Amino acid sequence: MSDKFRAILVSRDEDKKQSVDIVQLGISDLMDGDVTIKVEATTVNYKDGLAITGKSPVIRHWPMVPGIDLVGSVVDSQSDEFSAGDKVLLNGFGVGEAHWGGYAGMARLKSDWLIKLPSGISPLQAMSVGTAGYTSMLCVMALERYGITPDHGPVIVTGANGGVGSIAIAILSRLGYHVIASTGRASEAEFLKSLGAAEIIDRNELSEPGRPMGKERWAAGVDAVGSHTLANVLAQTRYGGAVAACGLAQGFDLPATVMPFILRGVALLGVDSVMAAKQLRSEAWQRIEKDLDMAKLEKITTKIGFEDIVSTATDIIDGKIKGRVVVDMTNS
Ligand code: NDP
Repeated sequence: MSDKFRAILVSRDEDKKQSVDIVQLGISDLMDGDVTIKVEATTVNYKDGLAITGKSPVIRHWPMVPGIDLVGSVVDSQSDEFSAGDKVLLNGFGVGEAHWGGYAGMARLKSDWLIKLPSGISPLQAMSVGTAGYTSMLCVMALERYGITPDHGPVIVTGANGGVGSIAIAILSRLGYHVIASTGRASEAEFLKSLGAAEIIDRNELSEPGRPMGKERWAAGVDAVGSHTLANVLAQTRYGGAVAACGLAQGFDLPATVMPFILRGVALLGVDSVMAAKQLRSEAWQRIEKDLDMAKLEKITTKIGFEDIVSTATDIIDGKIKGRVVVDMTNS
């Protein structure tokens, strides 16, 4: 095996102008870590799109190999937890932002960040789930911890055609929830129904400034959108319900009032995937193995190669991507 591999390197010049290049690297170029991995699969998340396009300042170390998710086989390990040949999975922990990530043939990472790939999930399936799907599962687990069950009533999922939204729909419907999908792409209604959505609403119903409280329409929510959408979701949540908030596709503001909290006892549950504890992430991946229909996952997944990553990153920022994208890295 050649020591050289391809990587996408994002750099910036003295004027902070960003450029993206495909370069050849060697193992000795990699950043520090106790586990060296041959990358087999990665994916393109919204955050990877931000890193490659430079639309938001997610990169904290220059130059950077983006890619916040990866699966690979261990080629060398200084950790007792992992041995050569193990299939490992990485989501987040600042990889692709502050530490070189998945858009390279090889990666060197800290063992604390890694978990073993569950045996029932292939590398490409895991990347089809990716941080988006793992975050969906964290949202569902947050609602469950709060005590929400299917008999409480419908659950709204915002950003329904996105990665987080589409996998949340598949998981929630499999668990028996009545899922209301909120989307700006009405043309994708049949697709959302095939994932398990029982009802579709137009996201315009939620994206404008609304009243402090509205009709009680759902018992819970998974919100990937933030801003007015989250405020309106909260304002229309039933008494005692809860909303798991994980995203900011509309905006990071939250122009809401306290009324749903103090008059209806509604709870707002924050969900972070990046720094989630190892035990929580392992549990989330075990639940994904059990509660996500992989046939549905396949329907929402597009497979691309290493050379398509940069254009796909632009498309995700332009809102042109439906569902999940996986990158087969076996030829990088
Ligand atoms: P995607 O780009 O795949 O999906 C976002 C979806 O949001 C779009 O498909 C669209 O859905 C909807 N949307 C986009 N723009 C707007 C807008 N202006 N107003 C209302 N809705 C909009 O992203 P992901 O699903 O991967 O991620 C969703 C969000 O979650 C992102 O903000 C991401 O940064 C965040 N995230 C957070 C994590 C965490 O740890 N907390 C982890 C992973 C993601 P439709 O076309 O159906 O309307």
